[in-house]
Amino acid sequence: MKVPPGVSPADFSEALKQFEDVVGKEWVFTSDDDVDLYRDSYSPVWSEKEEPIPAAAVAPDGVEQVQAIIRIANKHNIPLWTISTGKNLGYGGSAPLLGGSVVLDLKRMNRVLEVNDKNHYALLEPGVSYFDLYRYIQDHKLKVWIDPPDPGWGSPVGNSLERGGGYTPMHDHFDAVCGMEVVLPNGEVMRTGMGALPGSETWQQYKYGFGPYVNGIFSQSSLGVVTKMGIWLFPEPEAYVSGTVMVWKRDDLIPLVNVFAELVSSGTFRGTVVLASPLWFGPPDAELDPLRISGSVKDLEEYGARKRIPFWSLPLYLYGPTEVVAAQWEHIKEKFSSISGVAFQEGPSYRFPLSGDELAKIRDTVPLGVPSLQIFSLLPPRSQGHIGFSPIIPMSGEALIEALTVFEGVHRELGAGRAVLTILSSFPRAFVIIDLFPVERDVEKNRKMREIYRRLVKEAAAHGWGEYRTHTTFMGDISNTYSFNNHALRRFHETIKDAVDPNGILSPGKCGIWPKRMRKAEA
Ligand SMILES: Cc1cc2nc3c(=O)[nH]c(=O)nc-3n(C[C@H](O)[C@H](O)[C@H](O)COP(=O)(O)OP(=O)(O)OC[C@H]3O[C@@H](n4cnc5c(N)ncnc54)[C@H](O)[C@@H]3O)c2cc1C
Repeated sequence: MKVPPGVSPADFSEALKQFEDVVGKEWVFTSDDDVDLYRDSYSPVWSEKEEPIPAAAVAPDGVEQVQAIIRIANKHNIPLWTISTGKNLGYGGSAPLLGGSVVLDLKRMNRVLEVNDKNHYALLEPGVSYFDLYRYIQDHKLKVWIDPPDPGWGSPVGNSLERGGGYTPMHDHFDAVCGMEVVLPNGEVMRTGMGALPGSETWQQYKYGFGPYVNGIFSQSSLGVVTKMGIWLFPEPEAYVSGTVMVWKRDDLIPLVNVFAELVSSGTFRGTVVLASPLWFGPPDAELDPLRISGSVKDLEEYGARKRIPFWSLPLYLYGPTEVVAAQWEHIKEKFSSISGVAFQEGPSYRFPLSGDELAKIRDTVPLGVPSLQIFSLLPPRSQGHIGFSPIIPMSGEALIEALTVFEGVHRELGAGRAVLTILSSFPRAFVIIDLFPVERDVEKNRKMREIYRRLVKEAAAHGWGEYRTHTTFMGDISNTYSFNNHALRRFHETIKDAVDPNGILSPGKCGIWPKRMRKAEA
């Protein structure tokens, strides 16, 4: 049996026995077959000695059981790694960062505690998936939308804590969090925001409560186990209108992004868009690929003009009252008309609610608040899985062109083939570029991939671009780049970690923060 680092087999057996007393024997998993299910099937270190394989998993059914497990872990120095639904594929899946940890699997805590369609919020346990919440809303005929990320099998709690995103106006998931219940590393239960007021009537309606606002320290964090979370929902809109803005020259990106940034900051447009370059970064194409590789912008633009392929295309989705979204689309077109040669293409428009038959005809339902697993069939066929390098880039055309050129250059220099780059507007004042890497069951290919990834991290940091989220394998690398004033931020995180989790039992290493007893010299 695998044991946590620094824990004797006898102590670990004793801890497992105590876990069983709390949750029942059937909810403590120690067999190889069971533990295998918690490995990260998208791991870039699969089957290598660095692969962090858990020692066991334990699945509590309620907050008191979580408290009891944490107290036992403290007694025996057992590292725990918390997951809600454990679908964090691309970022570590359900596997811990530290091999030998015990996965604290909250899947059984899957109660929808409240959905309010007058004030538009929900209160959820961590094991509730986007599918569960959607089904609950449909079953209760409530007039609210959820905002699912691409795969709907994850959880609002896990996804929001990772600062993930979807596509509708509620796309910035951590921004939509209102009130949490957290079990602290000493086993105590705390409620944040208005939840700290006993009998509060506004826990899910006002975020800040009184005094320092602490919700942020539980996101991408190892400082607590979130056992309840409030999230804001979107009132079911009357209508949806979509359209695409197309421009033809590479440098048209500069005015395109200037107009887009104004629309976002003014609230005229709210949602995530995928800004595409069918010419530069489109799917493989026998005629286009040589032009892409040659790097001649003029040749690409001429080809695009001949074939009517835009250099940039920006799809936009609008949600709201019918007259309002129609007026918004007209306003948006007027704003972009300042760019010479701009063209617009109207997309699908809908009135809600849609019938089951109507929904069944729609290829991608995620931007309509309907969770799905469709993304897995939309991705280009590739290897075992993928992980994303995802730096935050300023919302300007100049910065985007520079970043895309730099990342493409690294791929070329290291012989990595064409970069698969996606530009997303997941956050209100910046873009995130996702550079998608295949992961394989091939040690040599994965090693090469890690080398390119780490080079991109350094190159990006040298330009002032940092990642918003990363796979557990690279958390230390990314943390090292956030180094202002001799790592003042990390030292502050460590000070908090040492104070609230002195035995270092919760998610050691998460985002580069190690408990004192495991802390190594700075890289
Ligand atoms: C093809 C594909 C497309 C994807 N598209 C998107 C997308 O559009 N948007 C997006 O955001 N992501 C996307 N992802 C990434 C991922 O699938 C989702 O973010 C997913 O929702 C995360 O899984 P989860 O909700 O089960 O979180 P979990 O795996 O349960 O949790 C994620 C992490 O959060 C922490 N955590 C979880 N629960 C708790 C808790 N209760 N208390 C304290 N800490 C906790 C842990 O560190 C954990 O590792 C995609 C992945 C793939 C493979």
